Amino acid sequence: MNISPRDKNSAVTILAAKKILTNFDCGQTKDFRWRHGAYNQLVSICDPQPNKSTMLSPFSLLLTLSFLFFLNPSLLFCHAQAPKISFLGNTPDAQIQRTMTALQDTFHIVRVAALTFCSAEPVFLRYFQPNEATFVRNIFRQLANIPLDQVITSENVVDLITSPPYAGLNQKLEYSWILLDQDPYQKCVDPGYNAYMHYDNPQLDALIILCDHGFRWPSIEEIANPPQTAWARDSQGHPLPGYSCDNLGTFDSDWMKTMGAVILHEYLHWGFYFTNVPGWHLKIAPDPAQGGKRDIEDYAGQLGPPAVGSGPYNAKLINDNYGNTGQPFAPTLNNVENYVWFAVSKYWSWRCGRDFAAAPSGDAASKREASGFRPFWP
Ligand SMILES: [Zn+2]
Repeated sequence: MNISPRDKNSAVTILAAKKILTNFDCGQTKDFRWRHGAYNQLVSICDPQPNKSTMLSPFSLLLTLSFLFFLNPSLLFCHAQAPKISFLGNTPDAQIQRTMTALQDTFHIVRVAALTFCSAEPVFLRYFQPNEATFVRNIFRQLANIPLDQVITSENVVDLITSPPYAGLNQKLEYSWILLDQDPYQKCVDPGYNAYMHYDNPQLDALIILCDHGFRWPSIEEIANPPQTAWARDSQGHPLPGYSCDNLGTFDSDWMKTMGAVILHEYLHWGFYFTNVPGWHLKIAPDPAQGGKRDIEDYAGQLGPPAVGSGPYNAKLINDNYGNTGQPFAPTLNNVENYVWFAVSKYWSWRCGRDFAAAPSGDAASKREASGFRPFWP
């Protein structure tokens, strides 16, 4: 991962990018195009040089006592407000590096979704109802650390993505941990799990456990600029299906899915992170089994088909089937994958400069397994 420092060159590029930025309300957002300078600012959250020898802290002891009686995880702090990455002594450096890249991708995706938000676009109306726009916009602003009442204009957008405190991350992220090579609740044994979130402890700290299967998904840059590897290019050097903007197909599919999107999915489950979003207690269903704690959950077929809410096709179906039925807690707003696929499709349409259509079926939207996953490492 190439994480550029904020050098003079990127500042110059950002100023050049500013000229093409206009207002970020509907109808104007299409002028906010991907540029290298803007990209570097959007992803810059983390020092890429982990130093394992200095990473032990009292928190690792706490984790050891709580969950891992025989393991001694080390910790990586990349930023004062950033999630902490907890890993073991034999965790490969490549795994740690890929995790950091994925975290940057997560916040890159949410910043683009927040900055280019437009409720009149088909991609929004594919996954949500028009009257859900303010709430959804605020969820992404909260993720992107943009004040909920901020008016975004061509004059301030560059400041928003480049200046403290908003260029940094939300302070609540300090209470989140990314665990590698650790499976305290024994869910990673199920190959259906890419990752899972756990946060029922009294401090509401979030544990995001990244299973090895989560590392099958590429990064944004591996998709956009495929490396010269056999899993991304053919023997002539041409990108394989699912790699490069030209090879992402015409509709929303898991070719768009990255490790960053996997982590985004897990953060969306962390109700503690969103309690200040207006309407949270009215729109997000309480869980009686957990003392009324409110989290955005995974739809599980409680109203009828689909049986699960994962993937772009099922998320769209939930909107089509139940979006306008007056449910007290809207199934769209209460299914994590509706947010994920809105943001992921939005991201790639911004990055590739073209819109993607709705997935025509669940099978059609599951492309990566057939075309081949990325190897876990390096
Ligand atoms: Zn989930």
